[in-house]
Amino acid sequence: AKYRHADAGAPVVARLSADEFAVLITGPAITGVAKHVGRAIVETMKAPIQLPHLTVTVTASVGVARFPLDATSPDELMQNASFALDAVKSDGGDGFRFFESEMNQKAVARITLENELRRAVENQEFVVHYQPKIDARTNEISSCEALVRWRRDGRLVGPGAFIEVAEECGLIVQIGDFVLAESCRAAARWRAQGLRAGVAVNVSAVQFERDGFSRTVLKALADAGLPPSALELELTESVAMSDPERVIAQVEPLRAKGVRFAIDDFGTGHSSLAALTRLPFDTFKIDQTFVRRMEEDPSARVVVETIIAMARALDYETVAEGVETQTQFAFLRLKGCNTAQGWLFGKPVSEGEFVERLRADQRPDDRRATPIAS
Ligand code: C2E
Ligand code: MG
Ligand code: MG
Repeated sequence: AKYRHADAGAPVVARLSADEFAVLITGPAITGVAKHVGRAIVETMKAPIQLPHLTVTVTASVGVARFPLDATSPDELMQNASFALDAVKSDGGDGFRFFESEMNQKAVARITLENELRRAVENQEFVVHYQPKIDARTNEISSCEALVRWRRDGRLVGPGAFIEVAEECGLIVQIGDFVLAESCRAAARWRAQGLRAGVAVNVSAVQFERDGFSRTVLKALADAGLPPSALELELTESVAMSDPERVIAQVEPLRAKGVRFAIDDFGTGHSSLAALTRLPFDTFKIDQTFVRRMEEDPSARVVVETIIAMARALDYETVAEGVETQTQFAFLRLKGCNTAQGWLFGKPVSEGEFVERLRADQRPDDRRATPIAS
């Protein structure tokens, strides 16, 4: 309302959808004017609103695109303003930004990836690789972690490049269900060949929080003919700690059947000690950042030791991730870590390679074929 300019037309305010509004301003010196108006909207919206029995506050996020500087058609102008708006929102909202051309590239890249992922799900372009987990006492492979890869135009793409987008657009449910089903079938095949190894599967927050999660897991086990005790599910700390009642409701039916649960990347999130003593989990997976820094950073060693001690007190198992050196392994073992996983013992490999490895490891005449010194 405070905005006035002799040569300017009156601003038009329109409602685009439930909580989306457009402000159209014409006139000279548009950059300065837009900045002024945008900031004023953000500041004004912050003022508390007094209702009969409570005070509420709301915030506004504002994205600005200028004609002809940022766009040359009305459609492009609206599109680019919304890219700027998205940029504000993804920074936590409550702010104001002008459109920048990188926002467009980013948004286009993101939409392209999403479309390609959708096609990849339809064409079943995902494969599962397996990384051995080593029993620190016997040096033998006790289990493995299933890690998804995307076979994209003949090259394998790691999950770092697509899991986040898959979670945002919901495709992680299909991808995750595939990884779960395939891992159960693979582990059942190994058992049928007389090989002993369990499998650990990563579960995303989106999958875990869906109704029917435990049914999906039990069905995957039953279809594969895999005993539940051969399966471990890995949840991140934020999922594990989110809503204790709900977590217990999702986890208990599976644990009752023998499925085990691990907290992945443990130590990086915010665990409540009170919740930890109540939650029905089996394993802490010590985050690889601590393992990696252990040799040169005494505080990382303290974290690792503390997690192992806490695990012992709570009757949890510990798995150390990202073990790359003998020194790291020796320390972990000395402190009583149960299981180690990392490049020292092997990178994630195809099922065929993993089975070969397992076979060599479990040859009856040579029980210690794993090439590590004991
Ligand atoms: P994560 O579950 O913590 O898996 C461990 C990651 O560390 C894997 O990366 C593995 O290849 C890598 N790694 C293992 N040992 C070493 C080591 O000694 N050194 C180093 N530098 N790295 C090591 P990857 O396969 O790229 O997977 C990354 C993340 O993607 C996983 O972290 C997991 O959070 C996610 N992810 C993978 N597969 C799935 C899946 O099927 N579903 C879901 N929801 N997430 C998945
Ligand atoms: Mg994991
Ligand atoms: Mg991890």
